[in-house]
Amino acid sequence: MEISRRDFLKASGAFASIMTLGFDAASVSAQTRKMRIKSARVTPTICCYCSAGCGMLVHTDASTGNVLYTEGDPDHPINLGGACSKGASLMQLNSVKVGEINPNRLKKPLYRAPGSASFEEVEWDWALEKIVKRVKETRDKNFTATQDGIKVMRTDAIANLGGAALDNEECYLLQKLARSLGIVYLEHQARI
Ligand code: SF4
Repeated sequence: MEISRRDFLKASGAFASIMTLGFDAASVSAQTRKMRIKSARVTPTICCYCSAGCGMLVHTDASTGNVLYTEGDPDHPINLGGACSKGASLMQLNSVKVGEINPNRLKKPLYRAPGSASFEEVEWDWALEKIVKRVKETRDKNFTATQDGIKVMRTDAIANLGGAALDNEECYLLQKLARSLGIVYLEHQARI
């Protein structure tokens, strides 16, 4: 649906009127929250997945102790109630027994061939070889040795994105590898 500038302004005006007439979004949100946690015990904790350290709230059934759901802690200074997709799935940590593997967990790489609409399971060795080949091809095809008479030895065609769960040593090795290939775009994927 296409919305013209005029439609947008009209809709904004209507929304402003609702607010002026006393629709209090804050109290509705507070009420919803109260209903949601009515029979649950809430325990604040820290997401264990990465070093961002987001605050989470774990809601448990007060009588059985079962985890009902988890969510970002709105009072936590780091994430202010937000959670990345991984943190949002924190409840799954509790939905499998210790020692069991979540049946939804992927155990093999998935590959979607160019032009294909679906993913297929592939072996690790096959996937690693494919990645190595493509990185090498891309780097060799897009390598700049000099620019304006200055030796630069870089490729602009590849970027390196680090993960928030990587430790110091892994980060060190990854950036070493990236720089040795001439990659200049080194980024970190902070999830919040
Ligand atoms: S960014 Fe995501 S994984 Fe990391 S601590 Fe926050 S919610 Fe957890």
